[in-house]
Amino acid sequence: MKLSVVSVVQFLRRSRFKLTPLLLSVIVLTLLFSLTIRIPAVEAVDGSNVPNAGVYRFKVGNFNVATVSDGLLKLPPLPTYAPTADPQEVERAMVERFWSPKELALYFNAIYVDTGTHKVLIDTGAGVELGSGLAKLTQNLRSAGVQPQDIDTVIITHAHPDHIGGIVAANGQLTFPNARYYISDAEWQFWTAPTIDLSPLKIPDQFKQGITAAARKHLSAIKHRVNRFQPDQEIIPGIRAIAAPGHTPGQSAFRVISGTAQLIVAADVFFNPAFDLEHPDWQTGFDLNAQQAAATRRRLLDQIVEQRTMVIAYHMPFPALGHVRSRDNHYEWEPILWQFTP
Ligand SMILES: [Zn+2]
Repeated sequence: MKLSVVSVVQFLRRSRFKLTPLLLSVIVLTLLFSLTIRIPAVEAVDGSNVPNAGVYRFKVGNFNVATVSDGLLKLPPLPTYAPTADPQEVERAMVERFWSPKELALYFNAIYVDTGTHKVLIDTGAGVELGSGLAKLTQNLRSAGVQPQDIDTVIITHAHPDHIGGIVAANGQLTFPNARYYISDAEWQFWTAPTIDLSPLKIPDQFKQGITAAARKHLSAIKHRVNRFQPDQEIIPGIRAIAAPGHTPGQSAFRVISGTAQLIVAADVFFNPAFDLEHPDWQTGFDLNAQQAAATRRRLLDQIVEQRTMVIAYHMPFPALGHVRSRDNHYEWEPILWQFTP
């Protein structure tokens, strides 16, 4: 039977109900709602397929900042992530943290900074370079209300594919079409030289070829819109470069400053609380100059500890924000407490 608002009102008029204006409006509103609201099937609303957040907003002084995830990979820790460490010690470090010793969770976290003048992205994610577990950056940016065309400044920590692979999208166009790009002069020189020597990396040759090809492809796409910076240079107001060589020759960390508030963006100076914070002399197979990388790690971490600065590092567990304490001859990670609003 088809029930319309008019037919119900006519029925009530004919019946013995006394139809006051108030009762009439209640009936009409109830019927209108019942016509417009569709209750979805239970399986569509139980939430079992809804992912957790891939974006975490916070403040640095007056700047609106967010960790924006590009995704997560779970990889065997050895030999790539601690090639010189004792395998038993690696296993112990993971089991102590209740992790599977077979899988190291590697997070990929870009950083969005709205300074009020600039909309900045620090690193671009892996794009299509490292498979389907990643490439979630633009989707997560959009969920935070930021469109790729809104980004006017892209700052690159270093030119490994998990950091620059999002420069050129799958369709061959620039993902962030309105951005100026900033990279250290040393990093640009290294990756755009006629030959790129990756022989010190402790990874398979196929990986090295992939890294070289990705650097050539993505850096050449921005050669007409790139600005190169020097160590300690202020890149845009409120973001200053810190030289962090070793992992790559021109890797940069950054200091984000608004008023008295500061955030250190540590790039790949350290990447895991159980590995190179607990064991600062463990290297990764991706460090081009492992000794220099270890010295950079201790230098930056000692500054962070001494100044009690909040820090974010690209591969740390999402949202990758925390503080560092020093203990004996190593460092401890203290994640920030989750805030529901920035
Ligand atoms: Zn990385």
